[in-house]
Amino acid sequence: MENKIKVTIWNEGRHEKKNAKVQAMYPNGIHGAIAEFLSKCDDLEIRTATLDDPDCGLPDEVLNDTDVLMWWGHMHHNDVPEELAGKIRDRVYSEGMGFIAMHSAHKSKPFRYIVGTDGNLSWGEDQREIIWNLLPQHPIAAGIPEYFDLGVEEMYGEPFRIPQPDELIFTSWFEGGNIFRSGVTYYRGIGKVFYFQPGHETNPHFYNPYVQKILTNAVHWAAPQKFEFPIPVGCPKRMNPVDELNEAKAEK
Ligand code: ZN
Repeated sequence: MENKIKVTIWNEGRHEKKNAKVQAMYPNGIHGAIAEFLSKCDDLEIRTATLDDPDCGLPDEVLNDTDVLMWWGHMHHNDVPEELAGKIRDRVYSEGMGFIAMHSAHKSKPFRYIVGTDGNLSWGEDQREIIWNLLPQHPIAAGIPEYFDLGVEEMYGEPFRIPQPDELIFTSWFEGGNIFRSGVTYYRGIGKVFYFQPGHETNPHFYNPYVQKILTNAVHWAAPQKFEFPIPVGCPKRMNPVDELNEAKAEK
């Protein structure tokens, strides 16, 4: 298929090296599990990258060839160079690259740089989570029921220090009484951003069909848009719109 969406799945990838429980859950890494279900879509071209790869897996030639960047990070956010996080933000803002932050990526440098807050939240032990679909007409919610029982997941609770979302698609209820805005979007520059909360490394939720559907939908939604008009880069000097319209009329 022509014009495939180029997806890069970035994973910190260190839990899988050190923790037997995570290795057993995700033998090919969290990135491998995500790549496996996304590869069922023949309009996606999938690459994976991890923190311990050269250039953190994202040399310029990879980043600049990525339409949608998915990000899973947890313990080693600080090992991601500021310069790289800045390049990711700039590519979202100016080139329209989609960015999908998963689970503990709420504290990752790229997510914080893109949305502009520190991403702090309330945290608790594993408990039952029910995810409510608040915006069923949104492309990311296509095929998702009114609510679904995720099973046991690490509790992420409010207050969640994010800017007011542009769209609030999913909200979660936790057994202990907490609630959490678990699926939110942002429009930044000419790019689209989605944060989705499930995906703790010792839980099987990247195998959950609804989680897979939501992330698959999100990749397609976040893909850069083709514009019918020039998108300004920097501050180009240009004709004012009235002169432009008059000139177009005169040419007719
Ligand atoms: Zn976690």
